[in-house]
Amino acid sequence: MTIKLKIALYNTFLVSIIVGCVLVFMMSISGTVIESNTKNQLLSVVHDNVDELEWKNGNIDTDDIDFYENHVTTLIYSDDGYLLYGYISNIENFNTPLLHGELTSINVNGVDYLLYDYLVSDRKSDSVYIRGIASVAEMSDMVENLFFATLISMPLFIIFTGLGSYFIAKKSLKPLVKIINTAQDISHGDDLSKRLNISGKDEIHQLSTTFDQMFAKLETAFISEKQFSSDVSHELRTPTAVILAECECNLLDSSTPQDKKEALQTIQRQAKKMQQIITALLNLIRLDNGVQKIAKENVDLSELISVVCEEHNIIISEKQQLLTQLPHQLFANVDYSLIIRVVSNLIENGFNYNKQDVDHTSQVTLSLTENQENIIITVTDNGIGIPPEHIDKIFRRFYQVDQSRTDRTTQSMGLGLSMVQQIIHLHNGTITVDSTVNIGTTFIITLPKN
Ligand code: ADP
Repeated sequence: MTIKLKIALYNTFLVSIIVGCVLVFMMSISGTVIESNTKNQLLSVVHDNVDELEWKNGNIDTDDIDFYENHVTTLIYSDDGYLLYGYISNIENFNTPLLHGELTSINVNGVDYLLYDYLVSDRKSDSVYIRGIASVAEMSDMVENLFFATLISMPLFIIFTGLGSYFIAKKSLKPLVKIINTAQDISHGDDLSKRLNISGKDEIHQLSTTFDQMFAKLETAFISEKQFSSDVSHELRTPTAVILAECECNLLDSSTPQDKKEALQTIQRQAKKMQQIITALLNLIRLDNGVQKIAKENVDLSELISVVCEEHNIIISEKQQLLTQLPHQLFANVDYSLIIRVVSNLIENGFNYNKQDVDHTSQVTLSLTENQENIIITVTDNGIGIPPEHIDKIFRRFYQVDQSRTDRTTQSMGLGLSMVQQIIHLHNGTITVDSTVNIGTTFIITLPKN
């Protein structure tokens, strides 16, 4: 059963129950209501007539008297019980004793009547009785008519509720059909660029906007997954091809021992490169799927950076300078070994992408500061910089700005920054780059304090 049908049926059922309850309630209280209504009307008409009754020159003036008003018949009797004015059919049955201010009920030919008498006197002690007679059946007829009108209109009301609910539900749920179709297309891999673009301000619109954002993320993830697979095969294909070519050449009888030695050296170099790629990829994948858990502890980042810099100072050349601007102590909750990887990677890049001038001294400066929310690590170099069009791509896996730059280092694989970014994200931090070609580059890392 569709949702719109369920909503329509539910509303119809609910309305039927409510209307049914109202009718039952009306029926149960109608007797009491009719009686008290009849009584109220009878008293009100009689009292009105009492106010309107006048004596002119010793005679009663009945001009302002309403003898039939609001289902109440009025009769005027003399104080000794003779009917003076007014008429009602079967009048002989209504000639019961007159009782001032009393409400009595009688049954005439199976119909219930309420009687109310009131004694009115003029100043000369001339007095008459005003008798009001109201038929309970007349009132109950009115209520009955109302009851039947409600009973007849009830099915119409229920049908309108059902149809109305169905159409409103149909209209509201219409975008869901679009969402289902688009999601099906995407799940079948037909077209990842499809979007819902549903306009409006209701919950369905919010849902579709969330879906559109999810589809966009899926598309990006799918494209980068494709790119990643093709990059991995591309990166591994070259060394594999070199190794195979060397093997083929040197398996020939004509190959000399010297050729074989050189070939083995080449094979060793290529195998090492493959090993590095595989290790780096494994590290990334371990971080990706959480196999490598991050073990956060309270670490003095000043000390951590000093230690990493000391290690690098041992291996850097005379033309390289590693400077630090560190506070005495600055503690943060981080994974010690992962942050060492980040800092080392950025220092290595700072020196690798330096200017090639003979008299140029390449400098890498590390600084550590804090503000209210974050701890900020910056790594600045005075190297070749990164052209603006490459800035937002350098964190992609296997992305290298250009080959001539990456030939500076045999370890260049385009995986370092990707790993750095992933580690920082695992710490809920951010990493950004500020770079000017031929001036230098600054990597800015922020790590949240909490
Ligand atoms: P790689 O192994 O190639 O260094 P990375 O992911 O570390 O891979 O860097 C990606 C690319 O970003 C590099 O190929 C390089 O061109 C550029 N790059 C990274 N760091 C710097 C830097 N400090 N100065 C200039 N270019 C840089």
